[in-house]
Amino acid sequence: MTDFPAGSIWLVGAGPGDPELLTRKAARLIAAATMVFHDALVSDGVLTLADPAARIVDVGKRSGRHSQDQGAIDAMIVAAALAGDRVVRLKGGDPAVFGRAAEEVAAARAAGVVVRICPGITAASAAAASLGVSLTLRGVARKLVLITAHARAGEPLDLDWSALADPGATLAVYMGKAAAREVAAQLLSAGMPAATPVAIVENASLPGERRFCTQLGLLSLAARLTLGDGPAVLLIGAALAEAKQPARAAAKHAAPASA
Ligand code: SAH
Repeated sequence: MTDFPAGSIWLVGAGPGDPELLTRKAARLIAAATMVFHDALVSDGVLTLADPAARIVDVGKRSGRHSQDQGAIDAMIVAAALAGDRVVRLKGGDPAVFGRAAEEVAAARAAGVVVRICPGITAASAAAASLGVSLTLRGVARKLVLITAHARAGEPLDLDWSALADPGATLAVYMGKAAAREVAAQLLSAGMPAATPVAIVENASLPGERRFCTQLGLLSLAARLTLGDGPAVLLIGAALAEAKQPARAAAKHAAPASA
C-alpha cells in the first residue's frame, strides 16, 4: 500500500462510535494495520475492521493520569513503527480535536518515522446531527467554539468566560460532564442569559445515545440528573433552539384525551 508502508504511522479518526461514520480511508487503514493502538472511546464495531492477525492494544487513558501516560503512548507507537509495523493510532472523533495528536506527530517525527493524519467526525458534529440542528446558523450563530472543560484535579477551569458568553456563538464543550456546574455558573455570571438553549448528548451515534435539551439556567441540574457513564458533549447557544429530544415512550402512546 503506497500510503502505508511498513514502519509508518497513521493517526486515524475513529469518529463518534457508529462504524458507519468512519471514513472509507479510515476503514482501509485499520484493515491494513499490523498494529492498532486505540483509545477507550473507540467502539468494538470499529475495532472489528482490523485484520484478525493484527495486534490490538488498548491505550485508553483515564482521567487524572493523562500527561504521564501520553509519553508512554508516544514511545509505544514509535517503537512499533521502528520495529517495522504498519501502525494505526485510532482515536475517538477527530484526532486533531482534543486528541493529543500533536504530541504523537512530534514523537514520530523526532524518531524519523513517517506519520500522517486521517480526519474523523468529531463529537460535536455527531451530536448536532442527532439533534437535527446546525452548529452554525445564518444571522444567529456565526461562530463555533470548541472548548474542553477538563481541568487538572483541584484547579479551576482557565477559560476566558466573558469571550465565551457570546450570544452569536455556539459552544461545544468536550469533557464537560464533571464541569457542567462550573461551566453554567461561569457563563451565567459572564452575562449569558439563563434561557440560552443547551443540549447534552451522551454516546452520540451509539446505541446508548441519550439527548437532553434544556436551558443554561438548568444545565447543572440536568447534567447531574440525566447523564450516565458515557462520553457527553454539551452544546450551548441559540442555534440549539430547535434541537430535538427523543419523545418519551409514554408520550408516544399517550392515552386519548377523553379516556
Ligand atoms: N477527538 C475527540 C474528542 C476527544 S475528548 C472528538 O473529536 O470527538 C473526549 C470527549 O469527547 C468526551 O469527554 C466527550 O465530551 C466527547 N465525545 C467523544 N465521543 C463522544 C460521543 N460519542 N458522544 C458524545 N461526546 C463524545
